[in-house]
Amino acid sequence: MGRRTRMRFVKRTPNNFYFSETVPSEDISIILTVSEFEAMRLKHYVNLNQKDAAEKMGVSQPTFSRILENSHTKITQALIEGKTIIVSGGNINYKRGFIGYGCLECNSEWEDESASKDQKIFCLKCNSERVYYLVKEPL
Ligand SMILES: [Zn+2]
Repeated sequence: MGRRTRMRFVKRTPNNFYFSETVPSEDISIILTVSEFEAMRLKHYVNLNQKDAAEKMGVSQPTFSRILENSHTKITQALIEGKTIIVSGGNINYKRGFIGYGCLECNSEWEDESASKDQKIFCLKCNSERVYYLVKEPL
């Protein structure tokens, strides 16, 4: 029986996420899992230390370290061998931040996927116009 992979958290998908019904040939591509992509992003782009990055992904530090090491190996291989890097799959769970509004009058908060700073909104509860745009980052 295979080892069970724990759920990992990522904040967002890559901008150039690759979708395909047919998996491209391994001769010309390297498959980077979304977890590996996220580990690279947290460590080398957001510049978190491994402890904080592991926490964000919901994995232990040794696990994070292993994921990061895998992605280094794959990306190095892609660079050396001139292969395409494809980000795909893996055992992941997308974390969503809270996007919506809050009310200064009655302190209620509500989610609204299409919320924006520039919109004129009235409180759903007390109908006050003292409403602010509210975004909460996961973790
Ligand atoms: Zn209100």
